[in-house]
Amino acid sequence: MKIGFIGLGIMGKPMAKNLMKAGYSLVVYDINKEPIKELVGLGAGKGSSPKDVSERTDIIITMLPDSPEVKEVILGKEGVLEGAKRGSIIIDMSSIAPAVSRELAAKAAEKGVDMIDAPVSGGQPKAIDGTLSIMVGGKKEVFDKCFEILNKMGSSITLCGDIGAGNTTKLVNQIIVALNIAAMSEALVLGTKAGVDPETIYKAIRGGLAGSTVLDAKVPMVLERNFNPGFKINLHIKDLKNAITTAHEIGVPIPLTGVIMEILQALKVDGKGVSDHSAIIQFYEEMAKIEVKRAK
Ligand code: NAD
Repeated sequence: MKIGFIGLGIMGKPMAKNLMKAGYSLVVYDINKEPIKELVGLGAGKGSSPKDVSERTDIIITMLPDSPEVKEVILGKEGVLEGAKRGSIIIDMSSIAPAVSRELAAKAAEKGVDMIDAPVSGGQPKAIDGTLSIMVGGKKEVFDKCFEILNKMGSSITLCGDIGAGNTTKLVNQIIVALNIAAMSEALVLGTKAGVDPETIYKAIRGGLAGSTVLDAKVPMVLERNFNPGFKINLHIKDLKNAITTAHEIGVPIPLTGVIMEILQALKVDGKGVSDHSAIIQFYEEMAKIEVKRAK
């Protein structure tokens, strides 16, 4: 079975590498030539367009920034659906609006192509380790056909419901992550300005109820003053925009998400859109005029 992989960024490139390590034969494509060169060097086939990729493969994985890019790659000129054979499967692993997943799956079905949405959580380290959490929406029989492939990229793979349910679950995940980072930031700025060493605070609380995966992933980065992405603030803005739109469409007010969205917007205006989302703490630091860092 041949796999196409489109979108070789921070996440897609290591995910594609893990599939190759597992013995799958890949054809890859990105608008950026650099990662294509790297993967072709490792033995992947070079795709010249999404259409070319889908003509040469049976399962096409996309790992792109947001809904417009996924729409363009699947529905656009020289897109996946121009080349895909009947019976092919599209696995969209990007985090996009659930309504767009449903729209794309309907268009794919008209061509006899199945689609599942399978966004991920865990960030670049887990993409590299092949231990992502994967949240899937789609038909059970299509999920079953894709399971072994997903299992090479993730260690927790959950069918959440019909098409779009993966991205709905991902929106839930993104609200929880953003608000966790904000809570961590607000509290550590307070503790630090009150005169307690932030690393000591982290060690003291990480085993208790305030401990979390967010704390373990992000506090070390903050203490090192390392805000390289990781997960870019611009992408988190995109996810919260999708969360707010989806919530309002179905009549769910999400006030705390509105607050963190505005904090992210302020950071973007401040030139930090491509920083890791742990840079949320810099919003609080700026207000309190203090930096949270490791004691020398
Ligand atoms: P990224 O910006 O590093 O990578 C996106 C890739 O898509 C780039 O290589 C870009 O060149 C390519 N691309 C964009 N438009 C294209 C097009 N029209 N045709 C072909 N290629 C195109 O982003 P990322 O961090 O890898 O994230 C990808 C997706 O995964 C996003 O939806 C993001 O929200 C999600 N995600 C990211 C993380 C993370 O920690 N980075 C974690 C979980 C989920």
